[in-house]
Amino acid sequence: MALNLIMLGPPGAGKGTQAERFARSRAIPKISTGDMLREAVKAGTEIGLRAKAIMDRGELVGDDVITGIVKERLDQPDARRGFILDGFPRTVAQAMALDTLMNGRDPLIVVDIAVPEAELVRRLSSRRVCRDCGTNADAGATAAAGAGDERCGKCGGRLEQRSDDTEAVVLERLKVYRRDTQPLVDYYRPRPTFRSVNGAQSADGVAADLAAEIEAVSGAGR
Ligand code: AMP
Repeated sequence: MALNLIMLGPPGAGKGTQAERFARSRAIPKISTGDMLREAVKAGTEIGLRAKAIMDRGELVGDDVITGIVKERLDQPDARRGFILDGFPRTVAQAMALDTLMNGRDPLIVVDIAVPEAELVRRLSSRRVCRDCGTNADAGATAAAGAGDERCGKCGGRLEQRSDDTEAVVLERLKVYRRDTQPLVDYYRPRPTFRSVNGAQSADGVAADLAAEIEAVSGAGR
């Protein structure tokens, strides 16, 4: 059975970090729409150019554009054996589109990582990510090289603040989350493959809870 996972949760809940760890441990691709958009921005593609302004305001890219990107990615051969989606879906319209894309595939397992809002603001405004590979400092083991020149433990790239992690944009992203994305929890909650884990603990603690929940759900479906 393919492990088809969605990671839900507010910005700063640790979705990216956890998705990265879990994907590596199960050898399935982590599909992060935020990472794909940031790559498009860096590459200067048409989608990237249009997305940049939207992302820098903390708003959401249009449902059709993002659903198209995800459809193409899920059609790649490596995603047939399973995948973990990070940052998608983010609206009920995207969730409905994803349900259509899932026709003929194994059921989605949905895990929500819950974290109180005050903790999110603190985490996001101190977060550092690698300029080159996008890995979070705490996920990729920071290699220190003196103050002001922190390097990524994975690729050696410079660590910096994401342009949408400034306090004003963080507050807007949390507002957009509450309005557009939180309703997804109610959309998925009735499903037997929905689980919620406590994200207000160490990354190792979240990873352990997550693995246990996913094991319980996927085991029940076998
Ligand atoms: P993330 O890295 O997941 O926090 O995403 C960064 C930004 O990319 C978001 O604030 C949105 O502007 C955009 N984005 C990422 N995923 C989506 C999505 N599924 N739908 C719409 N916009 C998205």
